[in-house]
Amino acid sequence: MKKVVCKFGGSSVADAEQIKKVVSIVQSDERRRFVVPSAPGKRSDGDTKITDLLYLCHDLARQNIDFSGPFDKIHTRFLDLAAALGLSFDMEGMLGEIGRLIAGGAGRDYVASRGEYLSGRILAEVLDAAFVDPAEAILFRSDGRLDSDASYARLRARLAADQCYVIPGFYGADAEGEIVTFSRGGSDITGAIVARAVGAAVYENWTDVSGLLMADPRMVPNPLPVEDITYREMRELAYMGADVFHDEAMFPVREAKIPIHIRNTNRPKDAGTRILPRRERTDRMIAGVAGRPNFSMLFIEKAMMNQTRGFGQRVLEVVARHGISYDHTPSGIDTMSVIIQDEQLAHKGELLVEDIQRILEPDRVELIRGLALIATVGEGMSHRVGIAARLFSALADAGVNVRVIDQGASEINIIVGVKEADLDRAIVAIYRAFVT
Ligand code: ASP
Repeated sequence: MKKVVCKFGGSSVADAEQIKKVVSIVQSDERRRFVVPSAPGKRSDGDTKITDLLYLCHDLARQNIDFSGPFDKIHTRFLDLAAALGLSFDMEGMLGEIGRLIAGGAGRDYVASRGEYLSGRILAEVLDAAFVDPAEAILFRSDGRLDSDASYARLRARLAADQCYVIPGFYGADAEGEIVTFSRGGSDITGAIVARAVGAAVYENWTDVSGLLMADPRMVPNPLPVEDITYREMRELAYMGADVFHDEAMFPVREAKIPIHIRNTNRPKDAGTRILPRRERTDRMIAGVAGRPNFSMLFIEKAMMNQTRGFGQRVLEVVARHGISYDHTPSGIDTMSVIIQDEQLAHKGELLVEDIQRILEPDRVELIRGLALIATVGEGMSHRVGIAARLFSALADAGVNVRVIDQGASEINIIVGVKEADLDRAIVAIYRAFVT
């Protein structure tokens, strides 16, 4: 029997009621043998995540400021959980120890990891499962990057018995045994690593939404859910901000072709979204559409650019020398554009333009600000006749001026740049053009 890895996000373990849902989900399918929890998240809109409270405690302690305010909140939440679930271990003692370590100058990653550690201890008890501390199984190199092969080997050895295991998300340790965390939201990565290590049949990612929607519901009213999507499509949509799943979490499972299934802890009967190597459903022309603002475009024009050897390379060298990374470089015969996130550009725009002018002597160089990029995503779409035409006529009909187009070499998306003010209107127009 192939096993299933289930990762539960912060809202799925936010209080005792939620944890009971987790127990019933895990127990309703005997293949669910590996459980990876986040730290308790928000119980309601105004609430604070345990991880944020832990970071706050650490930052205050480091400046010698009293951290008892946020620490008391953590204390109360975990003691309430222990009482409501009737836990037998010494939660009070563990919290006391964590408080002392924070006061004694414990490292930031160690402090942040305690939310997942405690949530793992709780789940192990309520599920009557074995607790595996990732500090002993997920290994980081000295440069802070994951040592995947060593981690897979350790996990495989630790998770070999025929029983249920709980492995807290978000952290591991380096060779010296110091705790190291992934980036925020990193429990998704832990789940993916465990799934890969044990060769799971599926990696279930339980959260508080029933998967992905074909467009952002804040822009498009009642968009259709995405039932199946490929890893590649998902990655393109995630890059544009469709963020139900951590970007980096895709790679370990994708390489091993393990499907990811995003599901809703509060509505376990909903279909959710399956992320697969290949998509069976072909009745939908696109997988989804997503966009985001805050891009700028460095536009360069020079007659005979296409015959000037190394021109593009030199442009990118100047960009790199300013410490800026870029996202796309759509180009024409005599023009080249470099699309950059505003965050990357920061205040370096003017100097960048001056350098390009001086070094490359183009006929024209301009920095166009206030762009939004929109990706319309679907496997094989750029090969299908009529898709681009449909997209551009929808934008034209909606009165949206397209400033830049990048179809790149990949066949899975068409990216257009529009004025930020046109973003919502453009997304609605594209969605309506493809989804009826
Ligand atoms: N608790 C961590 C965070 O809030 C990791 C996670 O939830 O995935 O970022």
